Amino acid sequence: ADPVYDDSDEELVERAPVVTIMGHVDHGKTSLLDAIRDTEVTAGEAGGITQHIGAYQVHHDDRTVTFLDTPGHEAFTAMRARGAKVTDIAVIVVAADDGVKPQTQEAVDHAKAAKVPILVAVNKIDKEGAQPDRVRTEMTRLGLQPVEWGGETEFVDVSAKTKRGLDNLLDTILVMSEVEELRANPGAEASGVIVESKLDPGRGAVATVLIQRGTLHVGDALFAGPHWGKVRAMNDFLGQRVKRALPGEPVEILGFDTVPEAGESVRVVENDRKARQLAGERANRLKTEARARRSGKRISLEDIFKSDLQELNLVLKADVAGSLEAIEDEIAKLPQDEISVNVVHRGVGGVNESDVMLGAASDGVVLAFNVRPIGDAARVADREGVEIRSYSVIYRAIEELRAAMEGMLEPEEVEDQIATIEVRAIFRASRIGVIAGSYVTDGRVTRGARVRLVRDGTVVYDGEIASLKRFNEDVREVAAGFECGIVLRDFADVKEGDVLEAYTTRKVERELA
Ligand code: GDP
Repeated sequence: ADPVYDDSDEELVERAPVVTIMGHVDHGKTSLLDAIRDTEVTAGEAGGITQHIGAYQVHHDDRTVTFLDTPGHEAFTAMRARGAKVTDIAVIVVAADDGVKPQTQEAVDHAKAAKVPILVAVNKIDKEGAQPDRVRTEMTRLGLQPVEWGGETEFVDVSAKTKRGLDNLLDTILVMSEVEELRANPGAEASGVIVESKLDPGRGAVATVLIQRGTLHVGDALFAGPHWGKVRAMNDFLGQRVKRALPGEPVEILGFDTVPEAGESVRVVENDRKARQLAGERANRLKTEARARRSGKRISLEDIFKSDLQELNLVLKADVAGSLEAIEDEIAKLPQDEISVNVVHRGVGGVNESDVMLGAASDGVVLAFNVRPIGDAARVADREGVEIRSYSVIYRAIEELRAAMEGMLEPEEVEDQIATIEVRAIFRASRIGVIAGSYVTDGRVTRGARVRLVRDGTVVYDGEIASLKRFNEDVREVAAGFECGIVLRDFADVKEGDVLEAYTTRKVERELA
């Protein structure tokens, strides 16, 4: 939850709203950020400006707006997952000639999960074939009805190319931020959030901090999670040296001992000693948490039902759209008087980082149907303590949900990975069928093991080893470093280059309060 301060009314001063631009790739996020910066900032500057950090401020109608240049909504939600509310308004860009696309939907879901008000910028209206009304219709289907159609969401038509509509966009941002009553106490000790960071060979750890409360000064001691430092120097987004930074301002600071992660909260404390001590305590806590996670204790479906949770948030991923619909239909049928079940995001394809971060931000669970984690998703899930539950049949997932909701979970079937096998050649034998000439790269495969075949994040086979042979002899097991012939039960589509994951299952009693 966002921290609550007991600042008195007189101490509070209006601060700049912080805006993030999100949307589908190529719909014009970068162009729009550039266009706003160029028209609004350059007005008073001599010549063009070079933006030095991933954030900038513009002045419009005597007010200031801060734009964050986050690399994607994963980062946006990563910040949210760490408890930092960074953005006040999310601008979702939709290209008028392309309409709503999968990442538009993702962006909307991320903004909704973070409870950030949404403004829709319908971009590229200069283009032939632009259909701003079609965008409005499609967004209405996502639950965002335009104000001009009697709904509650502001839509602004813009062109990053011709710069049409930018004034209107900024006006609308300011109107929306007035409703939010964004105020902060500049007299307090500074706190904020890291929005980006890097290690600079010449300058050491460099971090961009968005100040959210108080005023940050050169010389202040501060800590961010397990990192601490003393502000040695500060630059504004134009790269100019500054001595202090106010709420709503992004600044680049030098002086951290190590590189803090984006999304980490920053706080000024009375001196270096205190900063180092708090960072040390935080480092220890992180170690304990990591150890607890490794030993299998993490947020899971069971934990969620054990707590007094009123709602369960789910991210659903499946191999085909039909399965998603079927799952949602089944979820809708569950009795939800005690706990309500919300689907915060749904999508077709492997579980990606964005899905995991949405799970983290909403304290939810990812349910994966016939799909597996792809890219960095498994590692991120581990780090964020998000559970990814995999199923191959829908009814099993629904049964588990129902059982968990009724507090009567059956013993859980857990998987133990036992081997990784590479298929190196395919042989066909008349009576036996397709034999995968394989090499065990890791672990030890046994005859009764189960095997899963994943291609591009999709599970194409999940079944049993029907036969395991070495040099035409049946064997009980084959260890890493050895070749073997494998026949998969009821499956002939195995190909050279496939990687098989062998696993066994066992029942574990669930602990329920
Ligand atoms: P991003 O991936 O969302 O950051 O999209 P970019 O800002 O990189 O824009 C993708 C492409 O669309 C680029 O070739 C831009 O020049 C073009 N583009 C962006 N905004 C507009 C616009 O308003 N009108 C036209 N005609 N092209 C645009």
